[in-house]
Amino acid sequence: MHYDTELHVAKRALRQAARLTAAVQNKLLKNDVLEKEDRSPVTVADFGSQAIVNHILAENFPQDKMIAEEGSAALREEENRELMARLEEEVYSIEGLKGEAILQAIDHGRVEAGCVPDRFWTLDPIDGTKGFLRGDHYAIALALIEGGNVRAAALACPNMQSPDGEKGLLCLASENQKTLFTSLFTDGPALEAQTTNAKSFAEAVICESVESGHTSHSRAEKIRESLGVKAEPFRIDSQCKYAAVALGLADIYLRLPKSLEYKEKIWDHAAGYLIVKKAGGEVTDTLGRKIDFTTPPLLMNDLGVVASGRLDHQKLIEAVKASE
Ligand code: AMP
Ligand code: MG
Repeated sequence: MHYDTELHVAKRALRQAARLTAAVQNKLLKNDVLEKEDRSPVTVADFGSQAIVNHILAENFPQDKMIAEEGSAALREEENRELMARLEEEVYSIEGLKGEAILQAIDHGRVEAGCVPDRFWTLDPIDGTKGFLRGDHYAIALALIEGGNVRAAALACPNMQSPDGEKGLLCLASENQKTLFTSLFTDGPALEAQTTNAKSFAEAVICESVESGHTSHSRAEKIRESLGVKAEPFRIDSQCKYAAVALGLADIYLRLPKSLEYKEKIWDHAAGYLIVKKAGGEVTDTLGRKIDFTTPPLLMNDLGVVASGRLDHQKLIEAVKASE
């Protein structure tokens, strides 16, 4: 089975969605709402991105199910009329959709809780909301899962650099295609992504969340010490961490749970997982187990995530286990 059509459509969907999120982030920075901590531009960007991606998927794959982060319920409430009006303005300018068509797109392919379709897409319309609000990095992450395996993935990182030095990076991978990276907003060359050729652990760069609530920075420090890693941690929001490992900008991504109760969300990892794997890297949970994508929307059987380029993954996992 080839996934060329899926990747082609996913690429167009993420490009259009990223035009909206980039425009909203620009306005957010200009209007200084960051200081006021007004979260509504984020909501506009989340809903808008999901409406656009889902609309394009629905046109091309009407039967496919979606497991995505947002739902339209709040937007149908009278008290959110203003938010809905702003959303319409943004989505109309990019995808030409209005009112009910936007709401229907947001809910397209939605599945009942507890239902696990054999084939479904999973979407994080804005991954790394906190980075988005700060004016930093965020991602739009889309993956196709079939029979419990990630078959195709597209990951947009609007504030990372493309191979031709433009702002905006898009990574694409499928079961039968190595990870490619290209320009998100313009038609640039597509290059094969390659994780770094194993340096020693001492030379490795480890990336982790900016937010200390999402990963244990202190445990990562212990791991760096035990492996003799010299570089300071590379902190970056969202699945841009997976892109960094796939492109060899970092060697390791550590996501070390702050609590044993926290279950990772499928849309926070499915796309990044395939992007790293098909660039030659390895991705497991913190105990070295294969990531299990059969329990959406959560990864019920995994504990955190460890991704690496060409370093000895097993040795890395031993260090991660020893740091507990
Ligand atoms: P990052 O930008 O890598 O820190 O990750 C952003 C993602 O962290 C969001 O999409 C959330 O789904 C997820 N998240 C929220 N709370 C937690 C938590 N306590 N532990 C791990 N991830 C979390
Ligand atoms: Mg997320």
